Amino acid sequence: MRATILERQGQALRSVTLPEPEAQDGQLLLRISACGVCRTDLHLRDREIEATKLPVVLGHQIVGRGEDGRRVGVPWLGWTDGDCRYCASGRENLCVNARFTGRDIDGGFAELTVADERFCLPVPDELSDHEAAPLLCGGLIGYRALTLAGDGERLGLYGFGSAAHMICQVAAFQGRKVFAFTRADDERTQAFALSLGAVWAGGSEQQPPEPLDAAIIFAPAGELVPQALRVLAPGGVVVCAGIHMSDIPSFPYEYLYGERLIRSVANLTRRDGEEFLALAPKVPVRTTITLYELERAEDALADLRSGRFEGTAVIVP
Ligand SMILES: [Zn+2]
Ligand SMILES: [Zn+2]
Repeated sequence: MRATILERQGQALRSVTLPEPEAQDGQLLLRISACGVCRTDLHLRDREIEATKLPVVLGHQIVGRGEDGRRVGVPWLGWTDGDCRYCASGRENLCVNARFTGRDIDGGFAELTVADERFCLPVPDELSDHEAAPLLCGGLIGYRALTLAGDGERLGLYGFGSAAHMICQVAAFQGRKVFAFTRADDERTQAFALSLGAVWAGGSEQQPPEPLDAAIIFAPAGELVPQALRVLAPGGVVVCAGIHMSDIPSFPYEYLYGERLIRSVANLTRRDGEEFLALAPKVPVRTTITLYELERAEDALADLRSGRFEGTAVIVP
């Protein structure tokens, strides 16, 4: 099969031909029709998070069909042990032995993959394969972040990329006011946010017109944490939704005082996935996608790094 692999971190992905994978007991062999590109793929490529297996096929927002024709989605959470203290308490996202798609298990920048059937998710009928792919990480981990942000009405989104462009729509559907923060002069992305239901858009150093009840930080920039705290009402929460972030600079205690919270989101549970994929068609979440052929996966990562497209890049084998 054709695949694009990461051989060494810090180097470009390479297109190769690999033997076809074989499904073991409990696994589905899937023919991939689309695979969304996530910032985590870029972090692995750029050695900002550690690769556990090399070479590896990146990609963990897979839409594919099994041998019976059934369409499924394969997310980042690829396998858990089912019996550690986290799995036993409904927190399989923190499983100590978890294995992740596109890092520990070969992922979706390929024509075929195998996936544990228990971790595959139903894909909403309303969306095409290409449109559905971004839901499988940006959407559902963004949804977990939104849930952990609480019920506050005034929500800030810092970093308006793949996840935020979907979560903005969900939050507006829930009746919240969304304030979108982008790079200072990124008027194109600010206009994009307003088109998806944000009530205000501006640079991340700007003061929004009213204090926020919660903020979700999708950009991997630690300096956004004190910036977000600074515009939060007492009792508000800052949720860091990425797997990697640069160091958080020190800040005056008064930014945190007033029972403000900072927390992170790690991975997903299958329940997050099922809830979000049931909710998405009701909103309905519309994804903005840019398609790349499999052999251009490296270009897709480069374009993500430089912010060249709005929404999500999707690899089409
Ligand atoms: Zn991801
Ligand atoms: Zn576990």
